[in-house]
Formats: sequence, structure tokens, C-alpha cells
Amino acid sequence: MTSPYQHFVETLEEAGRCLGVSADLLRRIATPERVHTVSVPIKRTSGAWEIYAGYRVQHNSARGPYKGGIRFHPQVNLDEVKALAAWMSMKTAVVDIPLGGGKGGITVDPHSLDDAELEALTRMYTNRIHRDIGPYVDIPAPDVNTDSRIMDWLANEYGRLTGLPTPAVVTGKSISAGGSEGRDTATAQGGFFVLQSALEANGESLAGKRVAIQGFGNAGANFAKLASQAGALVVAASDTSGAIASEQGLPASDLAQFKAEGGRFSQMNGEFTRIGPEEVLTYTADILVPSALEDQLSREIATGVTARYVLELANGPTTADGDAVLEQRDVVVLPDILANAGGVVVSYFEWLQNVSLERWSGNQVRTQLADVMKNAFEAVAGIKSARSVSYRLAAYCLAIQRISAAMETHPMGAESASPVKT
Ligand code: NAD
Repeated sequence: MTSPYQHFVETLEEAGRCLGVSADLLRRIATPERVHTVSVPIKRTSGAWEIYAGYRVQHNSARGPYKGGIRFHPQVNLDEVKALAAWMSMKTAVVDIPLGGGKGGITVDPHSLDDAELEALTRMYTNRIHRDIGPYVDIPAPDVNTDSRIMDWLANEYGRLTGLPTPAVVTGKSISAGGSEGRDTATAQGGFFVLQSALEANGESLAGKRVAIQGFGNAGANFAKLASQAGALVVAASDTSGAIASEQGLPASDLAQFKAEGGRFSQMNGEFTRIGPEEVLTYTADILVPSALEDQLSREIATGVTARYVLELANGPTTADGDAVLEQRDVVVLPDILANAGGVVVSYFEWLQNVSLERWSGNQVRTQLADVMKNAFEAVAGIKSARSVSYRLAAYCLAIQRISAAMETHPMGAESASPVKT
């Protein structure tokens, strides 16, 4: 199977052919500007030392400082982080915010660590990368298995190490540490706006639609709540432990609450049936929302997908051949670099509030997020119809156009362009 980074490069090349741009330009966009590989040693509670592998990939800064989350997961590897960083560059360009793309991660199962170990891990990782990040250089955020508590530790350690304490070095913080209203629900909310726009473009609405959701964390659980509030039925959902389904619709808020308290679907009781973990992807539904990890919708699974819309809240959930099958079957795929960009948009709003010493209300955040997401959808849909390509290729075309325009102005990246350096 193609690796996530290779998949990114191939999609970029396909979009580049569509635009007729040079292979040199595409190679310059594809190649990360900087790749940091670090060791993250911590002393376990048992007294033994463990050394974890950590990464920070700074992909492209032509449009602004690097921006992207940090993932704690046993499958994290350099190829994956490179792909995730590249997707961030595409995403910030698609939604047209003045940021570039980056991503970080540690190869670790965070559930195997106690709280003190998790804090030590976060602080040591921050120690390793603190000279390479900063509010005008590279601004991390949460991703899989990282949350506001971890972002608060990172901000605190950065301030301690540099003597320049500033909440703007990281986003996704808790509200009391300078986080933004609406950041916790932003990825789901942004995806919701994109889905609404796509449905409206086809004269449809979300009310009464059947929704299946793979992954029930920040992205998936919050989306389930929004979809239910809009009158959709969440008929199937899964986490790493198992999958559940109900023809009457699952109680999204109760499920989200159960997960927020650390529950696992395999241990949950209620009025639902248990289904196989992969069945959630092919369960009879109108809308499928992959919200877990990469490479879930393979060719085989894609052949069995019943949904007419796929909203990619996860990054890279569809393999290259899975994508081809979905396209051939006329399934509307709303691609990750558009569908899940709400997270980075509200991260940008958080950063703006931090550097301008402002506080926005939840309403203000939601209204401005809606504007950004709807404009991005319109721009992508315009290219899709003008060039008769998929939403994915259209989004890549838009990103290439915007990134290459910035690269002409700032060939060295944002550091040559930033007015302020720390
Ligand atoms: P999270 O850690 O909050 O939740 C991940 C969920 O996926 C958990 O419920 C976990 O049990 C489940 N999961 C993992 N592997 C699974 C599998 N094979 N089958 C079923 N469930 C599985 O993470 P998150 O922040 O919600 O991120 C999920 C996806 O969304 C990732 O691809 C991430 O990169 C992407 N994303 C997140 C954000 C954000 O702001 N958090 C922004 C953009 C994109």
C-alpha cells in the first residue's frame, strides 16, 4: 500500500497535471523545509528509563508560520508526520489563513503512561523542540490523543525554557490558559458547515439523514452531537474498542459524555446492537464520517460503502485506490484538507486573540468560522465545476495556486517574511 506521504505526493502531482504547473514547482511544494527527529527520554514511575521517538516536521512556511498538531500514538512514524505536515500546508491554503503547515508526534501509547509520566513526556518533547517553535515560527496544537491539558504543559514549558512566556506559542489550550471558545468543537463544526454547503449544493439537507461515524474522539463525538441537533440519525459509531449501531439512532450526547469520562464502547450498555469494527464504514447510511486515523477506506471497504457522502474529518482516511473506487461509484468525498480545516481555523482565531490580547465570544468564533468554511467550500466547488474534477483535486489545485503565489513572493518561507521574530 502507498504510504501516507507518497499518497500526498501522488495527489499533489495529479492536481499539478490538472493545472499544468511544472514538476519542479510540485517538488518544491512537496518537500518539507525542515525535519526534526528527537529522542524523548523519561523516567517512568517504576524508576526505569524509557526513550521515545519524537518528530516535528516543518513542511511549508511560504504563507506564514508553520502550524499543526502533535499526535501521541504507537503508530506515529516519520512518513506519517511528513504527510500530516504537508496536509496542514494544503489545509491552511484552502481556508486562506496566513499560516503554513507543520506537524509533530511521539511514538507512544499514552494510555500506558500515568499523568505524571504524560506531563514529563510533554515537557521533554517541548525541551527538544523549543528552539524551533514560537508564536511567529511554528505553533503546535492538539491532534490524536493530545488535548488542552497537554497544550497547557507545552506552553508552560516553552515559557520556562525561553523566558518568553506567551500563550500564542500553542493553540488548543484550556480557556483559563488562553484558549479560545469553540476550539474544542471547531473541527467538527467546520466539517458540519462544509457538509451543509455540499448538501445544499445538491438541494438536500441533513435532517433525517443516516450518519455513521468511525472514531469517537474530539472530531467524531462533537460531529455526532451537531448532526443529531440538526435532525440527523447517528445510526453507527465506533472507537478503538468496538462499534455499536441502532436503527432508532444512537444518543449522541450520552455517547460523547461516556467517552469524555474515559469510557470504551466495548464496555457500554444500552439499547443498541454491537457490530464489527469495520462494519461501521459499510453500515447502511447516507453520510459516512471517518474520524479516526489514516488508510481506513481501502479499495475493498470503499466497494462496500453505502453512503453517498463521505466527510473526511480524519486526516488521510481514504487510500488512493479506495478514493478511485468512491469516485467511480459517484460517492461525494469531502476531502480532509477542506472538511477538517475548522480546527486550524479556530486555532488561528485563538492565536489572534492571544497576540492582540482579546477574548472572542463563542458566537463570534462560530460566525467567523462559518464564513471561512463557506468561502473555502465555494472556492473549491468553483474549481471543481470549472475543471470537472473531484472536490479533492479541486482543493489541491486551490492550495497549489495559493502556495505557489506565496513562494514567488517569499521563496525562503515565512521566516524571511515575518515582521517579528522571537
Ligand atoms: P482523538 O484522540 O480525540 O479521538 C480519536 C478517536 O478515534 C478515539 O475515539 C479512538 O478510540 C478512535 N479510533 C482510533 N483508531 C480507531 C479505529 N481503527 N477504529 C475506530 N476508532 C478508532 O483524536 P481527534 O482529535 O478526534 O482526531 C481524529 C482524526 O481527526 C485524526 O485523523 C486527526 O488528525 C483529525 N483531526 C483532528 C483535529 C483536531 O482538532 N483534533 C483537527 C483536524 C483533523
